[in-house]
Amino acid sequence: MEPILQLNDIVTSYGRIQALKGISIKVFPGEIVAMIGANGAGKSTTLMAICGILPIDRGEIRFKGRSIQGMPPEKLPPMGLCQVPEGRRIFPRLTVDENLALGAFYRHDTEEIEKDLDTVYGLFPILKDRRRQHGGTLSGGEQQMLAIGRALMSRPQVLLLDEPSLGLAPLIVQKIFDIIDDINKTQGTTILLVEQNANLALQTAQRGYVLETGRIIMEDRAETLIHNPEIRKAYLGE
Ligand code: ATP
Repeated sequence: MEPILQLNDIVTSYGRIQALKGISIKVFPGEIVAMIGANGAGKSTTLMAICGILPIDRGEIRFKGRSIQGMPPEKLPPMGLCQVPEGRRIFPRLTVDENLALGAFYRHDTEEIEKDLDTVYGLFPILKDRRRQHGGTLSGGEQQMLAIGRALMSRPQVLLLDEPSLGLAPLIVQKIFDIIDDINKTQGTTILLVEQNANLALQTAQRGYVLETGRIIMEDRAETLIHNPEIRKAYLGE
């Protein structure tokens, strides 16, 4: 099987600081892949490079067999690649409904958009209850749900999730991860997940990559990484 998303030897810099020093990743259709690593390892930078928010110095990014590096970021969701950024970035003064509608702003298939809205409200009933409330009045967990829901409104084939657990209480985090799993299973959405909560990420994913200072130092089945003593010591708090 061909990867749906592939990074070949990506190098990128902030000024003179090289943040990614040759990252190669493959994501196959239907997978959940986790990228774990300490603060500053380059996880968010990798997602921003994929999305075209950050230019790359070297390497190739392929999505569905096509080179996408250098493409304007707004071209990617219509192609089926959508990111949920770190910190959620929902629109606080727009309602839940309006935030979700923006996820589908470039689509014209009104009936299908309605169906997708029903699907999102089915996944996140709490958002349906709050559909006329402003995004800014939602709790942190609800805002994360809204950010994921908004991305789903673009009907992504690949969803990039940046730290969905950030700043949320453990119970809510578990709920969000259950829904991530559900989206993957019921919608067939492929997911690349960046997380500092390595334990949860590796429990949810089938495969994982471990990043350290801009390099991949390990890649394996998530099951194998979870039981690796080095990983347990460095990233799973043992
Ligand atoms: P985090 O969990 O903090 O998001 P991360 O693994 O996602 O960590 P990145 O945010 O990708 O790490 O950062 C990778 C490296 O790039 C770090 O050394 C960081 O200091 C540096 N960096 C990130 N953003 C910038 C920026 N806007 N300007 C300069 N350096 C940056």
